[in-house]
Amino acid sequence: MSGIKLKKPVRLSPSEYYRDIIDYVDERPVFRFYAAGEWAKGARVRDIRSPIDLSTIAGFYVPGRDAIDNTLERVYRSGRWSARNTPGERRLGILERMADLIEEHRDEIAEALILNAGKPVKSAYGEVDASIDRLRRAPLDVRKLVGDYIPGDWDEHTLESEGLVRREPYGVVLAIIPFNYPFFDTVNKFTYSFLAGNAIVIKPPSADPIPVFYLVKLALEAGVPPEAIALLPVPGNEADSLVSDRRIRVISLTGSTETGLRVLKKAGIKQFIMELGGGDPAIVLDDADLAMAASKIATGIMSYSGQRCDSIKLVLVEEPVYEELKRLLIEELKNARIGDPRDPSINMGPLIDPQTADEVMEAVSEALRAGATLLHGGRRLGPNYVEPTLVEVKNKEVLKKLKLFREEIFASIAAISPVKDIDEAIEIANARRYGLDAAIFGRDINKIRKLIRHLEVGAIYINEYPRHGIGYYPFGGRKDSGIGREGIGYSIDQVTALKTIVYNYKGRGIWEYM
Ligand code: NAP
Repeated sequence: MSGIKLKKPVRLSPSEYYRDIIDYVDERPVFRFYAAGEWAKGARVRDIRSPIDLSTIAGFYVPGRDAIDNTLERVYRSGRWSARNTPGERRLGILERMADLIEEHRDEIAEALILNAGKPVKSAYGEVDASIDRLRRAPLDVRKLVGDYIPGDWDEHTLESEGLVRREPYGVVLAIIPFNYPFFDTVNKFTYSFLAGNAIVIKPPSADPIPVFYLVKLALEAGVPPEAIALLPVPGNEADSLVSDRRIRVISLTGSTETGLRVLKKAGIKQFIMELGGGDPAIVLDDADLAMAASKIATGIMSYSGQRCDSIKLVLVEEPVYEELKRLLIEELKNARIGDPRDPSINMGPLIDPQTADEVMEAVSEALRAGATLLHGGRRLGPNYVEPTLVEVKNKEVLKKLKLFREEIFASIAAISPVKDIDEAIEIANARRYGLDAAIFGRDINKIRKLIRHLEVGAIYINEYPRHGIGYYPFGGRKDSGIGREGIGYSIDQVTALKTIVYNYKGRGIWEYM
């Protein structure tokens, strides 16, 4: 059934640099986990597959219950103090050094993203470079690490006193990483957590953890205190006791809404950053530059095969320009070059697994049964290779009942529908359970302003497709898309606790009041 030609068998050959974090079992690399002080083995090995050809390319040791407990104890007892007692300037220096090391090892990290996440070459290098950029911008976060002074000369009870409100690290942050940006997401969560003086426990995605193993090796070489970082590759369905552990005070999770809900139920009282499911609407106004809108929307649909929380899943177009926008968008989608992501001329690689391709096929069948029209794509070119797919659903009540509207199908599939005005666009966009971002294409400032006011989302991109990038502009969801924000200078708030200190100087003759 495969119409995809693969260049050659997929093989991972880590360089000598990573020698101490890998064992070779039957010539296959098996990664050790990092137990806050040592790279350790576990009794059980889990396979790592490449989405390119679904072959097993490596494995990793799954830490057992005792190893998890001992690691958390080390991080809690000593790691969190070593992080906090490292002066801020030294923490910044470590992040700088990490950026340098990533630059030195850029090719091998990008290769891991291509082989293990199935990223096209350009996207893989894009993720590595974004990670370097994120680390180099850490100085911009620092300005948030300040507090407040509150004078007491306000009422009778507080006269001759004063208060300070300071920020301090919570202690231990658990970073739960999704498969779609394994390297960048770990870098990002590490940067704001460590910069604020926290220790960090990383739970990588089971599908593509290899780039995360590489990163932790680099972080240690850059000078992160050995007990202030841990890498525990615990499979998600076995992670309840990890997320509920009381030594962990903050959970920063990027993943699906379903995972977010489960973690919220299990974790108990903690701080949360939850970057959850999305899939965004694009609204095209009747005065939009249609060629530009079609090109950007197509990129928003196809980039990394639609496996992005901020990818476009719904296109709502004002009636007068509907047919023309539709025609242009179909033309743009024809630019997809689907295939082996190791080939630099490819711009769409595989989906992470065949189950996701099944979901696309089921969603298309369901839509067609309900009266929708398949405008482009919808063909499976291999177990986990699917064409970018555009489905026209003119009946809005039908649209709202479809799986591709109600759920997030993590692939390159979008519905398109005409709307009579922006009120109808608002009503449909807000009927989705997600509220991550929206894109608006057009010029009429009054319509745009009204859309901004009414759309229940965390970020709005005007004449641009949603792209979170390195978080220079903060992002995060409303409704089922999450809690909190990720962004330079914003996430720091959520990994630091406020502590109020009140000084009483009554009767010391410092203040004189009438
Ligand atoms: P996922 O299946 O929810 O997994 C995300 C992470 O959570 C993985 O490390 C997974 O581990 C772990 N996990 C699963 N169940 C868990 C549990 N019960 N307890 C603790 N951890 C658990 O999501 P994904 O498929 O990797 O990533 C795609 C999702 O992430 C999409 O929904 C996307 O929209 C969302 N996302 C959101 C943003 C945003 O900014 N809002 C950004 C990127 C991605 P295993 O791999 O071991 O199962």
